[in-house]
Amino acid sequence: MPDDSLKIGKGSALSRILALRGAAGADWLQAAIDNWLETPGQDERAGGWMHASLLDEDCDRYVGYVYAGVRFSEKIDALTWRKFRTGDKLEERVIEELDGAGLLDYSFMHKVNEHWHGNTQEIEEFRIRFTPDAVIHHPEHAEDLFVVEIKSCNNRMFHTGWRGQPGYGTKPSQIHVDRTNVYMGALGIHRAILYYECKDCHEVKTHFLNYDSELWEKRKFRANVIRKLVDAEQTPQKTIQPFGGCLKCPFYGICTDETPPLTAPKLIKGIFPR
Ligand code: SF4
Repeated sequence: MPDDSLKIGKGSALSRILALRGAAGADWLQAAIDNWLETPGQDERAGGWMHASLLDEDCDRYVGYVYAGVRFSEKIDALTWRKFRTGDKLEERVIEELDGAGLLDYSFMHKVNEHWHGNTQEIEEFRIRFTPDAVIHHPEHAEDLFVVEIKSCNNRMFHTGWRGQPGYGTKPSQIHVDRTNVYMGALGIHRAILYYECKDCHEVKTHFLNYDSELWEKRKFRANVIRKLVDAEQTPQKTIQPFGGCLKCPFYGICTDETPPLTAPKLIKGIFPR
């Protein structure tokens, strides 16, 4: 009787073995995960709100697109999703440690699937929405609260720095400082800690931040200007990003001089989208 296992036809034993192994190891496994990560839908978001971190973006048009609920024209690749998700998981772990250390302030936190998350805050007047990573109290002075913003970064960003700036292990990013200031202003908690952890060596650096009320007022003003423009179905001005930043913008493919005016975010029965 002939030995069929040695034939390389569709459905033969040999073709099955080759498919299971893949040309470069079990490459089908990564392809399956990448495919799931890149499936449209993960980037869906309702318009009608500006996350506090969005107000750090230099480009008014970018902020306007997000507020109007425009879908990204560019696909976010699997590698970038892995970086985002790794950051999220590290943040979850640090919050668990803050809980274990007895520092979490539970009036600003809630549990989802056994994990603590900050309560989402909304300032409807300015359509600003955000979720603080954590709110803690001082171990000896329970009445003294702090906003905690958790950031993970690679070895270069933590230790070496780049573009002439020192690493976050030495000096916090101004963008992160400004963002955390928004959280302080909105929560009325005027002390904050920026927590950096290196994803490569897991060293930690914490920076204490003072509150800047003027910066908070500027952020609210900017949110209001962009909101009014989009609500009036006008497209905010572009700010071309340096270092090729526009090429990485998720709206690059639709951001042209012919971009039609944005459509105001729709209210559903008088309620802003969630
Ligand atoms: S492509 Fe550049 S100009 Fe256009 S929205 Fe993005 S950052 Fe702004």
